[in-house]
Amino acid sequence: PVDRTSEIQEARLKLPILAEEQVIMEAIKENPVVVLCGETGSGKTTQVPQFLYEAGYGSDNDLIGITEPRRVAAVAMSQRVALEMNLSHRVVSYQIRYEGNISDETKLKFMTDGVLLKEIQKDFLLQKYKVIIIDEAHERSVYTDILIGLLSRIVPLRKKKGKPLKLIIMSATLRIEDFTENKRLFPAPPPVIKVDSRQFSVTVHFNKRTPLDDYAGECFRKVCKIHRMLPPGAILVFLTGQAEVHSLCRRLRKNFPYSGKKLPEEEEEDSQEAMEKNKKSKQRKHMKLPKIDLDNYSAMPLDEGDEDREAGEEEDDGEGSDLDLDLDDEGPDEDEKPDSSLPLFVLPLYSLLAPEKQAKVFRPAPSGTRLCVVATNVAETSLTIPGIKYVVDCGKVKKRFYDKVTGVSSFKVDWISQASANQRAGRAGRTEPGHCYRLYSSAVFSDFEEFSLPEITRRPVEDLVLQMKDLNIEKVVNFPFPTPPSADALITAEELLISLGALQDPPKVGRLNDLQKAKLSSPITALGKTMASFPVAPRYAKMLALGKQHDCLPYIITIVAAMTVRELFEELDRPAASDEEKEKLKGKKARVLQMQKIWAGQGQAQKLGDLMVMLGAVGACEYSGLTPKFCENNGLRYKAMMEVRRLRGQLTTTVNSLCSDVQLFLDPKMSPPTESQVTYLRQIVMSGLGDHIARRISSEEMLDEKWKNAYKTPLLEDPVFIHPSSVLFRQLPEFVVYQEIVETSKMYMKGVSTIESE
Ligand code: ADP
Ligand code: MG
Repeated sequence: PVDRTSEIQEARLKLPILAEEQVIMEAIKENPVVVLCGETGSGKTTQVPQFLYEAGYGSDNDLIGITEPRRVAAVAMSQRVALEMNLSHRVVSYQIRYEGNISDETKLKFMTDGVLLKEIQKDFLLQKYKVIIIDEAHERSVYTDILIGLLSRIVPLRKKKGKPLKLIIMSATLRIEDFTENKRLFPAPPPVIKVDSRQFSVTVHFNKRTPLDDYAGECFRKVCKIHRMLPPGAILVFLTGQAEVHSLCRRLRKNFPYSGKKLPEEEEEDSQEAMEKNKKSKQRKHMKLPKIDLDNYSAMPLDEGDEDREAGEEEDDGEGSDLDLDLDDEGPDEDEKPDSSLPLFVLPLYSLLAPEKQAKVFRPAPSGTRLCVVATNVAETSLTIPGIKYVVDCGKVKKRFYDKVTGVSSFKVDWISQASANQRAGRAGRTEPGHCYRLYSSAVFSDFEEFSLPEITRRPVEDLVLQMKDLNIEKVVNFPFPTPPSADALITAEELLISLGALQDPPKVGRLNDLQKAKLSSPITALGKTMASFPVAPRYAKMLALGKQHDCLPYIITIVAAMTVRELFEELDRPAASDEEKEKLKGKKARVLQMQKIWAGQGQAQKLGDLMVMLGAVGACEYSGLTPKFCENNGLRYKAMMEVRRLRGQLTTTVNSLCSDVQLFLDPKMSPPTESQVTYLRQIVMSGLGDHIARRISSEEMLDEKWKNAYKTPLLEDPVFIHPSSVLFRQLPEFVVYQEIVETSKMYMKGVSTIESE
């Protein structure tokens, strides 16, 4: 029996899913696999685990497992469910990559999809679990897709064993044909239950014009207008990344200061700002703030419904009595002075934000203020923030794009899909009719993709192929993917793994055509098995597997951790808001460059290039006790350094559990490697990145200016360059090995070190 507080009980009863409890539980009882669709906020994530618990699925040492594609959801949801059920986190727990609060009393286990995949490696039948819920399946994250494929096989196996496992796939959209109409996956299509949600209508307002690139500025102006002119109700803004989120938070807080008591974290966020405030306040008076274009909105006459969409399905709940919500009225122009008469309670929300800071968005804003949450994509479906009435959608999302064959990657801010835009709009209609302001025109919207492509079709798959081979799935092409990766991607992955020694060399039987090649089914090698146990990319796993020689492991672990976390250094080439800030950035850059030179070492060590800088930076950081201040002073990202620390710990534990003859203990500080160790380190690095080599184009060879200072790689036609942030940027060694190529204005090599030219 669950003992909920009456307050919680009341809130639950308002959720649409509560009405469906019986139908859902009946379907789960009768079927091994059930698909559950319900709009974001209908109560899937918080309620279905409770239904299962109350129906006894979490008894006799059996677990109810719930997977989330995002860490933030795994943590937040376990906390919410524990609270709703009035149970301790020893019973309702979570496990994410580096941390968790699982205990021997745990009954409900929220985890990331990656964590469950690792567990399948240890126990293919997942015997601890009686039910697995795959949540947010519509996001189509790579691990979710793989899990569904694996579970489609595990479920019948468990039935055979006489200990059935239930699988529940939950989706916020109705686009589920890849699961239900995929005969290879589920020969008998699983039943689909739809939860009707009590969504209020959301009026969608398109911009007449689409800002070319200053969508963050446009967001700022829109929030200002909403806050000044529209009735109470929380605002949710969608931006693309953490830096943008923080910058908008700062601008809004400046404009609409809230003087009430702040929580310590906010002070910390603001402290820098506050220090400069006095100095700058005079200057600011003369600073021109951008003017709002009051004509930018459609006037929306009744016969032009085109610019106006309903995202909700239900009635119009007396919304006509609202004020004119189109914001196209004459209104006060934006003040240049901060306006403290209109306090706005601004909170950031993004994946990497610490859980206790994330939790703040769920609490009511201080009275007399309006809540404004500035979020990345996490607020699209993973987390539901109560009380949102206005959504401001920039229409963009930041994504990593890969070339599936060369692995060259780039981060691009791209338009979202129509499905995403509608999800975002839907966030406004949870508790009352709402409004969504789209900062792009309806014409632009109609050019959006209808849905975004599953992640698995957009990235290299060598890590997945290795994991599958480790599960003895030899013919990966035959794996029941909900949507399979391309044959090219599979072939590339298999070839790389063979070259790394993780898979057996295929027998040489003359020339094979691509299709036959794709069907090649090289079994995993002993080395491959070892590699598969490391939670890093196969190339790095290879380095770890070889690192045992000459006491190199602590260094290799650190280098691999740093390469996996990536971007240890803050971006200092960012545009500055003022001359003052520009000077500051310049000074900092000079200081950071100096430190990097020191960390790059002397003699042989210098040849390790950026990898030596990584080693030096991690060592120096740990030596100073890894404080935010040290990181800030040296241009290091504190969060990244914390993550490196945790990953080093995890890799050390994995190494120790794999080979009983080495017992490493983690000496965070590390003394620098000796000359001979440096030589081995370089060989070990080459063993994983052997195909990531580049040769400098000599001036005699240069036929075209675009090849100035360029390198040629075996993989690419086009010139590649050493990234300006590299310590080797000015040295331009003849041969280099690189960690990755990232395309921005040019193709840049990052994580570069020198290869000896014998
Ligand atoms: P779904 O998974 O269907 O998107 P959820 O179960 O996540 O829905 O959320 C159901 C409702 O519970 C939401 O409407 C939200 O308002 C509320 N809720 C979820 N998490 C919290 C929280 N941490 N604090 C307060 N309310 C919450
Ligand atoms: Mg959910």
